[in-house]
Amino acid sequence: MTPLLKEPSILSQGVYLQLVTKIKFLDEAIIRSNDPEEVLTFKYQSLGNRFVIPWRKIKAKLRRLVMEKQRSLNIEPGCHLKDDLCMKCSSCFIFGGTGETSSANVPYNILARILGESFISTSQVGEIQPYTQNAVDEEDLTTGQALMSITPVPKETEFIGVITLKDPTPEIASIIVDNLKRLTRIGARSVEWGRVETTILGFKLSDREALTAYNLIDSKIDGFGKIDDLKLPVVEEAYKTLDEQVKNLIKPLLKKKPEESKE
Ligand SMILES: [Zn+2]
Repeated sequence: MTPLLKEPSILSQGVYLQLVTKIKFLDEAIIRSNDPEEVLTFKYQSLGNRFVIPWRKIKAKLRRLVMEKQRSLNIEPGCHLKDDLCMKCSSCFIFGGTGETSSANVPYNILARILGESFISTSQVGEIQPYTQNAVDEEDLTTGQALMSITPVPKETEFIGVITLKDPTPEIASIIVDNLKRLTRIGARSVEWGRVETTILGFKLSDREALTAYNLIDSKIDGFGKIDDLKLPVVEEAYKTLDEQVKNLIKPLLKKKPEESKE
């Protein structure tokens, strides 16, 4: 089996840790056709009609959780989305960032080491029967404008997705695994609703991206490694170790003289 990297590296070594992840909705969610939010529907040729959660939605939420936890450990507490990325902490290293759009204003970019894909519902969407709703005009209290259709996603709908860590060290894996378990809500607008339960069903370590939700969705999900078998460091230690490693790694990049890049 391909091992996890001992140290984080700038150049890719081609190691992929894939986490087969299940997200179960504890509340009903809605899809609004004029303003797609957390969930969309997608038609696959062989899978039929399914609900999907776009990766960007999950990534954004996960990154916020990773940064939250990092702040609680007093590591780069000022680093925050979107324009104030510090470009030198564990979160920036895992999720990526560009020097230009961060206030750190450094001469390098960081590629995301976390790759994702849409989460696909394990059950098919029966018949999509959007019900239309008329928005009431505030002034004359008439309806008839801004028609929108809403598709409900039943509670207890389950989604399968594969989250891929590229060139992971035990510390990077620990941070993502721990924060995935803390993913208990989806959707920025969902204050009252949007509760989910996130479970990592198993992992695969390989020299390539070997798994996709598309291929897993209709098959039995077993035969994967159990996360506990990876014997990952506890998350607090992982943040501290990775913080030091990343800062050492970017030291040479910071030494580049600005005039070199001017021409
Ligand atoms: Zn940062």
